[in-house]
Amino acid sequence: MKIFKLSFVIILLGWMTSCSVKPTVTPMPEGYEQTLILVSFDGCRHDYPDSAYTPALDEMAENGIKASGLKTVFPSKTFPNHLSIVTGLYPEHHGIISNKIYNAQTDEWYKLSNGAPKQSKWYHGEPIWVTAEKNGIKAATFFWPGSEAEIAGHRPSYWKPYNGRVPYKDRVAQALKWLDLPKAERPRFISLYFDEPDHSGHKYGPQSPESLRALERVDSQLAMLWTGIKERKLEGAVNVIVVSDHGMTQLSRDSMIFLDDYINMNDVQVIDWSPVSAIRPLPGYEDAVYTALKNAHPHMQIYRKGEVPEKYHYNANEFIQPIVAIADLHWTIGQRSYFNSHPNVATGGTHGFDPDYTDMNGIFYAQGPAFKKGYHAPLIQNIHLYDLMCRVLDIDPAQNDGDAGKTLELMRK
Ligand SMILES: [Zn+2]
Repeated sequence: MKIFKLSFVIILLGWMTSCSVKPTVTPMPEGYEQTLILVSFDGCRHDYPDSAYTPALDEMAENGIKASGLKTVFPSKTFPNHLSIVTGLYPEHHGIISNKIYNAQTDEWYKLSNGAPKQSKWYHGEPIWVTAEKNGIKAATFFWPGSEAEIAGHRPSYWKPYNGRVPYKDRVAQALKWLDLPKAERPRFISLYFDEPDHSGHKYGPQSPESLRALERVDSQLAMLWTGIKERKLEGAVNVIVVSDHGMTQLSRDSMIFLDDYINMNDVQVIDWSPVSAIRPLPGYEDAVYTALKNAHPHMQIYRKGEVPEKYHYNANEFIQPIVAIADLHWTIGQRSYFNSHPNVATGGTHGFDPDYTDMNGIFYAQGPAFKKGYHAPLIQNIHLYDLMCRVLDIDPAQNDGDAGKTLELMRK
């Protein structure tokens, strides 16, 4: 019996070895070159897929790469991170230091609601679609934060003004149509953006069934994308990377920090509130406000501009305000009067916190001819993805803050 078992194991091992030396690599289809589709599931925390039904992501993990998580840049907010993913730059360098920015010199605001995201002047650096276009590669964006603006004198060959009401399936259908274009018109870089599960995470909290169902809805869009790729027999040419910009954590109305408990709100202009407050004292009040806030609350760190700890990479930008307040995980910086009249404040989830908190980690999956198969990678920093994408497209990256060596292990030889 023992001998039988042993010989069975030997036969099995021999069979496994012979399989592993002959990996099945789908050949590059005729007339096609390496193509990259970058997909964002906004606000998908690293551990959501473990609790949801996500067959499309699971298949990518099996046939490609899944990382333990994707580490954000600070602040772990939507626009700063989407721009860092596509430029390899920290927010202090690409310019989008938050979702809300104020230029005190010109009294101009960058807000998601005022059209400023379409203006070139806020953006520095070079998104991957600009690097592609500069290298003669057509790029297409069906939404990506920053993709509505001309940056460094370029736009994607194909792009759409943001409209959250465009059905998800139409975005996927358009991406597949782009793949069908004749070679001279066909983009080799495509981005897709989905605003879930972020929206549900904010409203219902990260542990909610609603957030997981929202992830399942976007996973089904990913499944449609892969079905379209396979129907076209393009698995040998198309690489898909799925990321999220940040994770999500639960807030509580018992974990509030009220600035008006410590300072007179007439002495300051609060540009951005929580969990990272950008505070602009009125002239003459700089020292008094700083002194009143410093050490005011054990769950709020206060820094003057230029003195934010190195790990945040959050000093070298003209629009960082004179005082930066950073809340600890789960905590909300607010104002007492507003809180009392708004029963929904701090009842759901949010993000924006120190990227060192595991709750802020997003997801990273990749599959295609450029990537290893069935490889589980450790936590990856999103600042390194620009270099990785340039390598997939075989183009030289622009100057950036990432390290090309950090993602080499993901590549198929
Ligand atoms: Zn987001």
